[in-house]
Amino acid sequence: MKSFSYAQATKPADAVQLLGAQPQSKFIAGGTNLVDLMKYAVENPDRLVDISHLDLAKIEPANGGLRIGALARNSDVAANALVQKQFPLLAEALLAGASPQLRNMATMGGNLLQRTRCNYFYDVSQPCNKRTPGRDAGDAAFRPTGCGAIGGYNRIHAILGSSESCIATNPSDMNVALAALDAVVQVTGPNGSRSIPILEFHRLPGTTPQRDTVLEDNELITAIDLPTSAVGGKSHYLKVRDRASYAFALVSVAARLVTQNGMIREARIALGGVAHKPWRLPVVEQTMVGKPATEATFRTAAQALLAGAKPHEHNAFKIQLAENAIIRALQTVSS
Ligand SMILES: Cc1cc2nc3c(=O)[nH]c(=O)nc-3n(C[C@H](O)[C@H](O)[C@H](O)COP(=O)(O)OP(=O)(O)OC[C@H]3O[C@@H](n4cnc5c(N)ncnc54)[C@H](O)[C@@H]3O)c2cc1C
Ligand code: SF4
Repeated sequence: MKSFSYAQATKPADAVQLLGAQPQSKFIAGGTNLVDLMKYAVENPDRLVDISHLDLAKIEPANGGLRIGALARNSDVAANALVQKQFPLLAEALLAGASPQLRNMATMGGNLLQRTRCNYFYDVSQPCNKRTPGRDAGDAAFRPTGCGAIGGYNRIHAILGSSESCIATNPSDMNVALAALDAVVQVTGPNGSRSIPILEFHRLPGTTPQRDTVLEDNELITAIDLPTSAVGGKSHYLKVRDRASYAFALVSVAARLVTQNGMIREARIALGGVAHKPWRLPVVEQTMVGKPATEATFRTAAQALLAGAKPHEHNAFKIQLAENAIIRALQTVSS
């Protein structure tokens, strides 16, 4: 591992200032993703700014919903009574991820920014446009450096929204639940603070796959807001994976349904494991409102969500798997 210097921040403003003071600096929170990436020489920062001591771990009521500090640990959020009562979908998704030990270290901000699990991204001997990008998309001289997964072994890769540069997926379970819950990410940086709706936070790869999110390098995530209480209806996080635990999702579904007399009043469906960002199409959810909560309605919605799916050599199975998982998750929340 390349040597690096270390600084500990005690206030958000100091963290931003410390990060800006030296190029090639990175924030470190729980370290469960970043330290692995440094050991593999995928990330090679000159300086780590430790943000784990910032006072950003509270979980508090806010505007009828909840504000969850970026430094709150995944295990604390999953066990929190307010989260369990108002947003059980989030607790369920968090508990589906990693292992108890990892969840005790992992933070909400770090989970939002965890990087893809594409094997070629982690192997520096392999070509990867995300790890070693070409020039920016706007530059006429853009030359991709290559993608090991396209034409390689791509069983875990994306079927939706991928590009000729990158077919990686976002590996987080939490992000899928946040997408279904209309979360808002609060960030602060040298130019002030801003709020980013979760559906705009993560990006599709396009010709700049090195950018997973719209966050600038010098911005600090301070909190995640869950704006309105999702008490009505039922929710479920369904994760399909190769092992029953301690494995990333091949496909996952965060579903929430409000029904009345068997008719759908409100629907939310977000998919994980299928794209570079949590996949959610509000327009499909709107078409479900007023329809009966039956398998036929669920199948139509699933097929609309997966329209345009483009499989690669080893992952065509994900299309049927995703359709089945969507239907099963919706049946679970409609019964
Ligand atoms: C073996 C293993 C299995 C796993 N299984 C799963 C799984 O099944 N499902 C799942 O969802 N996840 C899984 N994970 C991933 C785990 O959830 C993430 O590693 C964790 O959430 C990252 O949080 P962290 O606080 O440790 O982040 P760190 O590693 O500290 O940071 C990750 C990135 O976020 C940046 N960062 C962190 N906090 C902030 C902030 N507040 N503002 C700006 N930038 C920030 C860092 O600079 C870094 O780039 C697994 C991880 C491992 C190692
Ligand atoms: S899919 Fe993306 S992350 Fe994986 S090798 Fe290709 S460019 Fe890199």
